[in-house]
Amino acid sequence: MKNTQHDEFMRMAIALSEQNVAQGLGGPFGAVIVKDGEVIAGSGNKVVPNNDPTAHAEVSAIRLACQKLNTFSLEGCVIYTSCEPCPMCLAAIYWARIDKIYYANTKVDAAAIGFDDHFIYEELDRPVAERKLPVVQLLRNEALGAFKAWTDSTSKTHY
Ligand SMILES: [Zn+2]
Repeated sequence: MKNTQHDEFMRMAIALSEQNVAQGLGGPFGAVIVKDGEVIAGSGNKVVPNNDPTAHAEVSAIRLACQKLNTFSLEGCVIYTSCEPCPMCLAAIYWARIDKIYYANTKVDAAAIGFDDHFIYEELDRPVAERKLPVVQLLRNEALGAFKAWTDSTSKTHY
């Protein structure tokens, strides 16, 4: 793919980020998912209109692309995002098996306008017991039943 095509797809992601602000929909973020040079899905950030804290542009675009392609794997796809992905989106991109990330604004640019995800990276670096978010284990023996059933199942879909 020529660099100009990468620029074209990134401009679509940027346009989604601009539309989001212009239409008062939410944060200035947009993402586009492309497969074999064809746009599969694109989305702006939808946290506010959807009342969904996970509806970042990248996660929203992944959901749309998976619906469109009727699959849980976006292997063979690349994502163009108007801003460097946050830890949640980065993890979602890994889970979706997207091949490559192209980004425009950096996380430092995002932090400068009030969207700071640095604290999450800091949290991940700390031992669980030292994190701000309390994490408590309960009922492991009861929960293991589903794991055993999964292990024994002959009808499961591996993903
Ligand atoms: Zn994100």
